[in-house]
Amino acid sequence: MTDKGNGLYEFDGVSFVLGTEVNCNGQQGGRSRRVHVLILAPGLEIASLITDSLSTKGKLASDGRPTVHLTPRQLLETLLHIDDQIILIPAHVWTPWFGIFGSKSGFDSLEECFGDLKQHVLAIESGLSSDPAMNWQIPDLDNVSIVSFSDAHSAPKLGRELTKFEGELSYQGLFDDIKNQNIHSTMEFFPDEGKYHSTGHRKCGVCWSAEDVCQNGELCPVCGRKLTLGVSHRVEQLAKRHVETWKDEFGFTLAANGRPAFKSVVGLQQIVAEGLRRGVNTKGVTDLYFTLVNEFESE
Ligand SMILES: [Zn+2]
Ligand SMILES: [Zn+2]
Repeated sequence: MTDKGNGLYEFDGVSFVLGTEVNCNGQQGGRSRRVHVLILAPGLEIASLITDSLSTKGKLASDGRPTVHLTPRQLLETLLHIDDQIILIPAHVWTPWFGIFGSKSGFDSLEECFGDLKQHVLAIESGLSSDPAMNWQIPDLDNVSIVSFSDAHSAPKLGRELTKFEGELSYQGLFDDIKNQNIHSTMEFFPDEGKYHSTGHRKCGVCWSAEDVCQNGELCPVCGRKLTLGVSHRVEQLAKRHVETWKDEFGFTLAANGRPAFKSVVGLQQIVAEGLRRGVNTKGVTDLYFTLVNEFESE
């Protein structure tokens, strides 16, 4: 990896920025909160200062996404003391357990979570279960960038959701783009494909839309316990307005609000699985997927 001297590191023609995901686990407003956030750092020196500072707050080496015993606000304050170019982005903001707006331990606004530091939150990540159009309904998010990044649990999922920035290819360029919503577009999965989009109980086989919950209540018809309120339900709870959207000739979804457009995409492996009516990770699907990719040289 070569240090390009502008906060980016290059390997095999690809530029990387230093970043990680952290699980914030702390008490706030009389409740215990668990919120995932992304941290981007402007260079290795700053990154090691972050590591030093957070090493007293949790076991950083225990997990790829370590837990720190801080609220997101305390974490942000710590980071800003180290360097004001560090970027903190609440991750997959709507997911029930670990999203900043999640139904389990989340908050109702960025203000409630970050208080006076709210202005330093420059972006939120839409996650796999929501798209920008859902987030446009929340006035609280008008002044932050809505970014999308990939699920890094396994290699085939890398780069599936992404953000195309307009500015200069440097850390400063990235910082400015995030700050100024200087984004060309994002690529998104269809939110209803996301694991947490609907309300329900996986084990009980219950999968409800926000409307079903309105009609039937929040209790599981199978086991009687409270259902896990999904992303669509939570967005509906916090939405303050309806936003009309349309698609342009290139398939990008737009609105009159002038926010960056997005495109909804489906992975090739998913399409093959639908065609063969088999599971995405089955051998038949994987084999045909690789046959196609080899034939056409890329996905
Ligand atoms: Zn996460
Ligand atoms: Zn149940």
